[in-house]
Amino acid sequence: MDLNWLRKPQFPAMRFFGKSDKIALTGLTLLLLLLSVASVIPRFGSGSLPGGDVGEAPILVVIVALLIIAALGLAVIFLRLQCRALEIARSVDNHAALHDPMTGSANRRHFEQRLEQLAGDNTPSHSLMMIDLDRFKPVNDLYGHAAGDALLKDIATGFGRVVGTNDLVARLGGDEFALLLKDTSVLNAERTALSVLEFVKKYRLNWQGQRVSVGTSIGVIHIDQAGLTPTTLMAAADEALYAAKEAGRGAVFSAHFASSESDELTFQRIDAGTPEPESSTKSHLPEDGRKQELYGVAMASLQPKIPNYQTSRMGSRRRHIVSQWVMVEPLTIGDELQPGVKMHELLEDAAAHGDGGADLARWILLMALESASRLSPTALGRIGFVIPVPARAVATVPDLADDLMRINALAHNPIRHLTFVLHNLASMYDSPAIDKFHYGLHSRGARLGFEIRASTLDVLAPLKHAPYDELHLGRELSKNFKAGTSAYAAVEALVTFAEQNNTTVVASHVDNEEELRHLAMLGVSRFSGPVVNEPKPLHDVLQSLAKTV
Ligand code: GH3
Ligand code: MG
Repeated sequence: MDLNWLRKPQFPAMRFFGKSDKIALTGLTLLLLLLSVASVIPRFGSGSLPGGDVGEAPILVVIVALLIIAALGLAVIFLRLQCRALEIARSVDNHAALHDPMTGSANRRHFEQRLEQLAGDNTPSHSLMMIDLDRFKPVNDLYGHAAGDALLKDIATGFGRVVGTNDLVARLGGDEFALLLKDTSVLNAERTALSVLEFVKKYRLNWQGQRVSVGTSIGVIHIDQAGLTPTTLMAAADEALYAAKEAGRGAVFSAHFASSESDELTFQRIDAGTPEPESSTKSHLPEDGRKQELYGVAMASLQPKIPNYQTSRMGSRRRHIVSQWVMVEPLTIGDELQPGVKMHELLEDAAAHGDGGADLARWILLMALESASRLSPTALGRIGFVIPVPARAVATVPDLADDLMRINALAHNPIRHLTFVLHNLASMYDSPAIDKFHYGLHSRGARLGFEIRASTLDVLAPLKHAPYDELHLGRELSKNFKAGTSAYAAVEALVTFAEQNNTTVVASHVDNEEELRHLAMLGVSRFSGPVVNEPKPLHDVLQSLAKTV
């Protein structure tokens, strides 16, 4: 008899019966049927039964037998389901106990178990890598914890792609990861470490229209002797990682035991590249020899001239009338072969450097001071300078405000009215790093501006409590500016925040009179853009402003 139909998927209940269940249930069914038949036969033999219910008794017995079989079958299905649920729950628990919930990588416990296994081999040839991201904290500070989390997840996924299927990627905590490469040669392990370095270097998180990057430092130890404990191996890889950080970050160091008897370590740098310069004065300049210049664009006022009060170090309020403003714009001059680089791109590229672009900010100020030194002190006293700074620099170099103000103070002809405008600030308007920068500027009489590119009100809400003196509307807000758009609603809200804080709203990139009319109606104070003038070399702009002040 063909019983295959019982195993076919259209009979799903069969999936819950194991082989032993099927044998037991079949046996039981046959037994019950046999008993019910046996109980019926004697009644037929005796001829008749009292009460006239001769035909019903055997049917009843068969029905009861079938009900018992069905009940038993259901009980087995129920028990099997319970077991399956328990198995699933147990495997979920096991997975959770051994994995990091955020990135899905192995956790420290899993990593330690695997390291113990590998270290216990008689003739091991494995590799352990300790990885710590460079300058990860500024990502949290500038773009928020959610951006930091997204970056960690992507990085963990990327590590998974770099290593083989037998290898383990573990997140040990924070921005620290470990890789365990099983059955690998020293050469292959070093190649993998360089691939990890390269992957992180090229990786960019796209976060609210901005490209966010980090670097990484890596320490490697090759496990090629039996008897080394996990603690010794982890300490060795950690020390190599520390050496990579000390060398300036963005580096891979491998640790080697001086001899098989001693715990003494020597370190060797594996990657060929030089580390990211921490504070080299050249780090912001184009590497291909193109010329980087400082341009400027004069701003026009939309409101009656308001005296600009500044508090001196002694606490007394001095009155200055700033009658002209110049917005400083660094750019790279292009040629037929290489296109030029505009300010926004330049700031973003600089922010990807190890110093977050602090060096570019210093360079811009130095070059602006150089141009300013040709003006008379009186003319300079009437011109306000707006200097762009990548926001990442503020989070990366905690003393940047002191640095910038020192550069200005030591100049031959210091600029009196300085506003530093932070670019690519995302929604971290009230981060402690920004607060510190603001305090550093204010205590020395300079001002802080934020460039705003977002137009959604929920992103802008934290601005209510942020420390700023000026809000600069980015191109995204002032381009095609007209009533009824989300940019219009955002500018309306920004002007309200600014009024509450007694601060100024400035528009740049204003293209035509129509946009200007709308911006003026909303209460924007100053503006620049093609509608009045185009950027020119800063020297030229300052010379023509000096004639009018
Ligand atoms: P360094 O170049 O010296 O490595 O400095 P770093 O900025 O990368 O900072 P460090 O490695 O010293 O500290 C890691 C930071 O990671 C500290 C903490 O604010 C942040 N962090 C820790 N866990 C998480 C997390 O789960 N999510 C996010 N977004 N950030 C985290
Ligand atoms: Mg780190």
